[in-house]
Amino acid sequence: MGIVKAMLDSGIVPDFIVVDGAEGGTGAAPVEFSDHIGLPMREGLLFVHNVLVGAGLRDKVKIGVAGRIVSAFDIASALAIGADWTNAARGFMFALGCVQSLSCNTNRCPTGVATQDAVRQRALVVPDKAQRVHLFHANTLKALADMLAAAGLSHPSDLGPHHLVRRVSATEIRLFSDLHVFLEPGELMSGRCEHVFYRRNWEAARSDSFDRLP
Ligand code: SF4
Repeated sequence: MGIVKAMLDSGIVPDFIVVDGAEGGTGAAPVEFSDHIGLPMREGLLFVHNVLVGAGLRDKVKIGVAGRIVSAFDIASALAIGADWTNAARGFMFALGCVQSLSCNTNRCPTGVATQDAVRQRALVVPDKAQRVHLFHANTLKALADMLAAAGLSHPSDLGPHHLVRRVSATEIRLFSDLHVFLEPGELMSGRCEHVFYRRNWEAARSDSFDRLP
């Protein structure tokens, strides 16, 4: 929120923001960071999307997301709640042969993906793996197109939170558009934001520091 206030104060607005969820990372990351630092991507996405909408800047800033995006549904569900595009690494690593042995930092990657060892690198046969990665991407996008067509949509940007449903009890399902908070354009600027979390934190945020106003 402080960064968005700085955008408003300075008039300097980035072309895009990428929300990188805590789900991602490398097998070489410190376990404390992997397990405890960061926010799930979808929570971070909803927050960034809402703050930009609430500040009246959403039409100027695109949002990309990363965080355990593998399947077409992962892509569709992130686009539906506010992302303009998704980044992916994990699925491509799997297509390349990664078996998640978590030894990227040891130079002993068993499949030759993350190593400088010339002998181990021989396991990564480029012509074969390149084809696998290409087909994985092409078929993931085909599955996304199939899902959109099944929903009667013609473009990924047609997806919205009302296309996602979650079962919340044995007898009740809720649309994501009802389940989550979605601010109205300019709502934070109006001073009449109904959502206490957003209103209080917006009031406390400052453009010159990550510290909060008293
Ligand atoms: S297979 Fe290689 S790239 Fe994948 S986690 Fe293991 S060491 Fe890392």
